[in-house]
Amino acid sequence: MNDFCRIAVGLAVVLSGLCGQVNAALRVFACEPEWGALSRELGGDLVEVSLATTALQDPHQIQAKPSLIARARNADLVVCTGAELEVGWLPMLLQQSGNAKVQPGQPAYFEAAAAVRMLDVPRRLDRSQGDVHAAGNPHIQTDPRNIALVARALGARMQQLDAANAERHARQLEDFLARWQQAIDRWNVQAAPLRGMAVVSQHKAFVYLYEWLGMKEIAVLEPKPGVEPTVSHLQSVRAALRDTPARMVVFGAYQDPRAADWFSRNAGIPVVRLPFTVGGTEAARDLFGLFDDTLARLLAAGKQ
Ligand SMILES: [Zn+2]
Repeated sequence: MNDFCRIAVGLAVVLSGLCGQVNAALRVFACEPEWGALSRELGGDLVEVSLATTALQDPHQIQAKPSLIARARNADLVVCTGAELEVGWLPMLLQQSGNAKVQPGQPAYFEAAAAVRMLDVPRRLDRSQGDVHAAGNPHIQTDPRNIALVARALGARMQQLDAANAERHARQLEDFLARWQQAIDRWNVQAAPLRGMAVVSQHKAFVYLYEWLGMKEIAVLEPKPGVEPTVSHLQSVRAALRDTPARMVVFGAYQDPRAADWFSRNAGIPVVRLPFTVGGTEAARDLFGLFDDTLARLLAAGKQ
């Protein structure tokens, strides 16, 4: 190696070190897989994402384990649903992380629910009605139009927090939104046969999905939100639906399928396991796959 090359290599090492610092990825701590996936779509290689929950865990009920607390400690941005979904575990986790910049109210703390119109907001708050959320139904990720609204707000937040890369964040946001809108247009056409279809759900996990698709939830297997279905409640739902039959019974991949299976056998209607979030089924590998697979499963059951 001659002197020129030695200097060039040396410079390259110094420059790549500097660039490495400038481009240091924004460390995102996402409460649920859908927000981790959205952060990756928007951030690309400008972000490094870690997840608090998997698709097969119930996001209402997570343990604030030391390994999770450690990851929140190093986060530059916390992305969660909000609307009380994580009320049982996130406040303690954030407090114990000792990370001042990601506490609620700080720019590095982001709640997706603040970007959308909430459904099922109770007019009167009565905790005896089970695990009722004062802020409305928190399962907003089941409507892709909500994903677009959250993407805009989250993209803007990333630009604010990572000002050195703001232009790239802005470009990546617009690129995602264009691809996402094309997908929504395609899904709207595919989903036409589902419009007006009556369904039974195990948990009120899909109210946003049904509103988007024009499906009608005519009964819920849980007697109260978050309370396991009982045999007597299942039988009363079954009796109530003898005259107005549903076309299918739906449950989320993270849930115990026994109640939905029982209902399916007794009512003679198909049972549908929906991914609910990214990773809930094998085909729901990313946000696009989440809705491709959700529609494929609903359409297949609707034909039975
Ligand atoms: Zn819920």
